[in-house]
Amino acid sequence: MLPEKARCTGCGACAAACPQNCIAMTADAEGFRYPQIDADRCISCGMCEAVCPADHAPAVSQETSVLAAQNRDEAVRGQSSSGGVFTALARQVLSEDGLVCAAVYDEAHRVTHVVTGRPEELGRMRGAKYAQSAAEPCFPELRDALKKGRSVLFVGTPCQTAGLDRFLGRKYESLLLVDMICHGVPSPLVWEKYLAERRRTDAAGAAVRDIDLRNKETGWSRYAYSVKIGYEDGSQYRMHQAQDPFLRGFVQNLYLRPSCAQCGFKGIGRCSDLTLGDGWGIWDIAPEFDDDKGTSLVLIHTEAGRRAWDAVAPGFRTYPLTAEQAAAQNPSALRSSPAHPERERFFASLEAGAPVTETIRQCLDPPEKRGLLQRIRGKLGF
Ligand SMILES: Cc1cc2nc3c(=O)[nH]c(=O)nc-3n(C[C@H](O)[C@H](O)[C@H](O)COP(=O)(O)OP(=O)(O)OC[C@H]3O[C@@H](n4cnc5c(N)ncnc54)[C@H](O)[C@@H]3O)c2cc1C
Repeated sequence: MLPEKARCTGCGACAAACPQNCIAMTADAEGFRYPQIDADRCISCGMCEAVCPADHAPAVSQETSVLAAQNRDEAVRGQSSSGGVFTALARQVLSEDGLVCAAVYDEAHRVTHVVTGRPEELGRMRGAKYAQSAAEPCFPELRDALKKGRSVLFVGTPCQTAGLDRFLGRKYESLLLVDMICHGVPSPLVWEKYLAERRRTDAAGAAVRDIDLRNKETGWSRYAYSVKIGYEDGSQYRMHQAQDPFLRGFVQNLYLRPSCAQCGFKGIGRCSDLTLGDGWGIWDIAPEFDDDKGTSLVLIHTEAGRRAWDAVAPGFRTYPLTAEQAAAQNPSALRSSPAHPERERFFASLEAGAPVTETIRQCLDPPEKRGLLQRIRGKLGF
């Protein structure tokens, strides 16, 4: 038996491992992908259950060292969500004729993982994309490359790295597994609908040219960054993250995957070699180090992680941290994200055809809160 819906992370390890190729990852009404088994072709081999990380969580590291890091290459740091560690690791692996597997927007701006050996692809891999990515179609290609002894860097959410770990079923010397501190993954359907509404509102339907959900022109800290979307007609949408409806719904857990409410992959110890995150709180811990241009948290779990970090470390300014310091201002490192109380109402309205932006507003700002906000604004005169 595969796990019930509330625990399935959608990592897709079951679908990738099926020797009959009879498991399809199919989106439900909320837009999250779940395994669908074709019972006529299933031979009950049990492979899908054996690789499921929700039921068989991989072993996690016992010792982790932590530091804050800023890439000295300011152009790379400026384009990265945090301190630009991903790009440095990826360049290193590519310089060894290896492969990098990470998340990109496809031509329809859906989030998906791809595998590349080409440095030109790193630009589209950079940056956090706030919709659940489909990673498992890449798993067989990664296994084939690893069997041939090729270096591979995989970057994904903690449940995706656990899924790949279970799918591979053994450790490979040449694999660098990197996960992230993860708040949770938003619905791909909500992202798709939101972007479609943005296009109509901002650019009369013009095609999207580029998307940056962690734009640093207004600063990097969680209080400062912006959302920026550029369109082919030259127009642009730019909004502070606290005002952008999609980001607001994301951070308030309105449309995260159900399994994110009881994530089994939190903690300082991980099954990955390295964990990346935002160095939130560095402004209090070491104000002299923080320049509001992006600081990464780097959690080093294994020998392979240590070697990978040492290889890129000369390209970084660093500051030593303890795990307690790292987790204190980054609760997503340790705690799951409980669903917003209006989550069910939100998806019911969406299914009934309500516009997504207005539905987000209605669920996050119920009338009584709107009245209060208006009164406060009135008193303050804005
Ligand atoms: C959904 C999501 C939630 C996150 N929540 C937190 C959080 O609560 N706290 C925190 O400290 N950090 C969080 N992060 C991680 C953080 O935003 C940065 O991605 C991370 O610190 C790496 O930054 P960087 O500057 O080294 O690299 P960047 O250049 O920013 O690279 C980001 C890496 O993440 C991969 N990636 C991007 N989007 C996705 C996706 N949807 N699914 C899988 N992989 C993806 C990219 O392919 C790339 O490898 C989250 C990231 C995502 C995608």
